[in-house]
Amino acid sequence: MTCTYPQCETATTPGIHLCAPHQGAFVALLDRAGEQVATARETVAKQGSNTAGGGGGGSVSSAPVNLTAMVLVDEYVRLIEADPRHLGPEPTVERVRVLARSSSAGPTLAHLERAEARMMAVCERPADWLILGDCAGTTEDGAPCPGQYRYQTGDTVARCRKCPYEVSVDEYRRWQLRGVPFAPARLTDVVRGLGALGVAVRMNTVKSWAHRGRLVPAGFHGAVPLYRAGDVLDLLESKPVAA
Ligand SMILES: [Zn+2]
Ligand SMILES: [Zn+2]
Repeated sequence: MTCTYPQCETATTPGIHLCAPHQGAFVALLDRAGEQVATARETVAKQGSNTAGGGGGGSVSSAPVNLTAMVLVDEYVRLIEADPRHLGPEPTVERVRVLARSSSAGPTLAHLERAEARMMAVCERPADWLILGDCAGTTEDGAPCPGQYRYQTGDTVARCRKCPYEVSVDEYRRWQLRGVPFAPARLTDVVRGLGALGVAVRMNTVKSWAHRGRLVPAGFHGAVPLYRAGDVLDLLESKPVAA
């Protein structure tokens, strides 16, 4: 038998469809999956924070929040979670040994590697400290505090370094979304991207808005209409949650 990983011709023992090096690659991929996803999510969130902070105070503009990037993260998580053998209770090495008995082991690994690469390609390494946005506090002479809220991975509260102000990371993020320059994206990407940011939107609801012309495309990619997340947020705000 030979390894089923694309282009790998390495001989394997009967019943085993993944060579030792590719089993090792599979173990490494599964072992780092959690960390990679966390890194990707932080980077995407940070991109949004950099542009959104300050409530319209002419801050330096960086890339708009990339909903497509968020969808890539979402897709990777989905792929990893699709097979219970990927994240079982046994040690990773044991799980991969079981996976290697399947004839789809090689293609599955290649597929996961591509999805991981796509996800990480849109992410820079995050700094140790993540900046949430400008501080809302005031200095002793009543001027706006020049500080910014910052936090580290896993923190629920972000603190200003220049004054005692602190905010809930989650609440601040939701507030920030109102002013974030989201790049126009496919409707499914908008819905799933907002979902990944903690905003629950029903695909059917948004589709019906688009159908009835309440939600208008911001542009087209070929024949595919692209929509603004901000428009969806506005409609969500203007209308009580309906079924
Ligand atoms: Zn191989
Ligand atoms: Zn401050």
